[in-house]
Formats: sequence, C-alpha cells, structure tokens
Amino acid sequence: MSCIFCKILSGEAPATIIYRDEQVTAFRDIHPIARTHILIIPNRHIDSVNELEPGEELLVGHMVLVAKELAAQEGVAENGYRLMINTGAHGGQTVPHLHLHLIAGKLARFLLG
Ligand code: AMP
Ligand code: ZN
Repeated sequence: MSCIFCKILSGEAPATIIYRDEQVTAFRDIHPIARTHILIIPNRHIDSVNELEPGEELLVGHMVLVAKELAAQEGVAENGYRLMINTGAHGGQTVPHLHLHLIAGKLARFLLG
C-alpha cells in the first residue's frame, strides 16, 4: 500500500498526530493554508466519498464530531472554522485517502473561491 496517509497511520511516515481513536486519526496538514489546518482521516483506507457505502454513516459523522472537538481544543470553535472534503480530480482531491479538512483562521476565507 503506497498511500501516504496509510503510511502515517502505520507510523512509516512522519506526521504531527494530535488525536487518535479506534475509528479515526487526526494530524496537522504539512502545508497549512491557515493557522489551524488539521486532517481527520479514517483508520481504514477509503479512497474518497465516492467509495463510501451504506453503513459508514457513523464513521463520517464521527469524523465531523472529532473535528468539532478539535476545533474546541484549538480554541477556534467560537470564531468558527471550515470543514471540507475534496473529492476526485475536479474536487481538488490530491491524496486518495478520505480526509476531512478542519481549517480555521483568516486565510480560510480564500477558500471561498
Ligand atoms: P486534498 O487536496 O483535499 O486531497 O488534501 C490533501 C492534503 O494533504 C493537502 O492539504 C496536503 O498539504 C496534505 N498532505 C499531503 N501529504 C501530507 C503529509 N505527508 N502529511 C500531512 N499532510 C499532508
Ligand atoms: Zn490510505
């Protein structure tokens, strides 16, 4: 498996991991576009939203709730933040392992596009 996020999960590749539980792992984006930029990923490889199956609703919901907790931990909950899942080439997805971006800070505004 050559997936860079799977390598982060296995410890083969370095990352600043800030949260981990049975279902998901969160680490800091290597090229942050705002002061807070965290990626929340499932511990099991799923290419993208396109590959999600019925029964994985709880996993996706859990990713969002973990993002909420991390936003509070980062101190950005009150001012607000952006949650983003890019899907496929035209969606701007560059790493084919499902991930939820948690982005907060002034630069997040540029993402409005
Ligand atoms: P996306 O464009 O939605 O697929 O987002 C992929 C994100 O992963 C980008 O923001 C990258 O900066 C980030 N990224 C890629 N490789 C790594 C890595 N080794 N560690 C942390 N973040 C990474
Ligand atoms: Zn993977």
